[in-house]
Amino acid sequence: MVSERMKGLGTARSVIRELFEYGKVRAAEIGAENVFDFSIGNPSVPAPDAVNETAIRLLREQPDLIHAYTSAQGAADARERFADSLNRRFHAGCNPNRLYLTVGAAASLCCVFNGLTCPGDEFIVFAPYFPEYKVFIEGAGAKMVLIPPEIETFQIDFDTFEQSISAHTKGVVINSPNNPSGVVYSKATLERLAAILTEKSAAYGHPIYLISDEPYREIVYAGFEAPWVPHIYQDTIVCYSFSKSLSLPGERIGYIFVPDGVSEGEDVYAAVAGAGRSLGYVCAPGLFQQVTSICCDMTSDLKIYEENAKLFVSALREMGYHVVQPGGAFYLFPRSLEPDDMAFSERAKKLDLLLVPGSGFGAPGHVRISYCVQPETIRRALPKFQALADSYK
Ligand code: PLP
Repeated sequence: MVSERMKGLGTARSVIRELFEYGKVRAAEIGAENVFDFSIGNPSVPAPDAVNETAIRLLREQPDLIHAYTSAQGAADARERFADSLNRRFHAGCNPNRLYLTVGAAASLCCVFNGLTCPGDEFIVFAPYFPEYKVFIEGAGAKMVLIPPEIETFQIDFDTFEQSISAHTKGVVINSPNNPSGVVYSKATLERLAAILTEKSAAYGHPIYLISDEPYREIVYAGFEAPWVPHIYQDTIVCYSFSKSLSLPGERIGYIFVPDGVSEGEDVYAAVAGAGRSLGYVCAPGLFQQVTSICCDMTSDLKIYEENAKLFVSALREMGYHVVQPGGAFYLFPRSLEPDDMAFSERAKKLDLLLVPGSGFGAPGHVRISYCVQPETIRRALPKFQALADSYK
């Protein structure tokens, strides 16, 4: 006997991975250059040279020590460097003892959900959303309450949001810049969100935590701004990752930050650390704790994503696709040309265009395009998008 839930999760791949694997098989059949794989969010720009040079230097200088265990919450010197960086860049008031280093934003989120959840707790998520939230929240024994998408803008539908908060609400998850819509929440939006959470926390007599999932924090386009969320809402817990900003998704490194202003902050930090222990997320990869903390003020050369967005959005709109303007990250979330996004994705697949159906993100009638690819790939894919549009005329 095994856990049916875990068996289900282990056998049913995510739709994204399914398409990604299909793309690899198809590439072997017809050549990689003929498959237009927009399925997965693997950064297309390399990590800065300094990242590789730092890794090599550390391996040479400390061939034994660098592979050693660190403290469960991460090495003290690495946490100091991250805290200094956050304080320099955002005046974050970051105390290194409130940072917990772990294997990417995925583990950060799992530690936070597991650390916070008491029986009966709920977390509110806004569609469209990163599908793993549901797995992580339910894995922690909590319930995910989904707010349907506001499809003209993919911003927050505040009326529905307010009505969905209850005595059971332990937290609210935001992800700005967003996967899969690319939208960014403005300061005004975050202030309105904060006002509601402050009022509801007081009404229900317990803090409602805002979990800010920020792997795309640095990928923000001209005319948009991603404010430092804890300055706007005190009960914010930050989940961060170097997967996208430094193009290091395979190195599995990120952190949780529980600011000093967070209600019952010491308990929250202890519970997050306890969750890390219980899930086995202790002592994040030691080499990359050092590398990322030394390089944390840098980013990869991210400007290509903005150029790709411009190229894609204007071309798709000219072809008649409806697409909300992204303000960051590297995703577009256009409407599918028929209500059934699965059927639309299947039709695209026949043209070797791999687009992820929006249903899995809580927004049927859309598809996700990951444009972390070479601009040339987009240019060569455009006739396929045109053929797809023509097939509906
Ligand atoms: N959250 C969002 C919104 C993401 O898009 C991703 C990865 O794509 C993650 C979390 C997980 O990131 P990581 O690779 O750091 O675990």
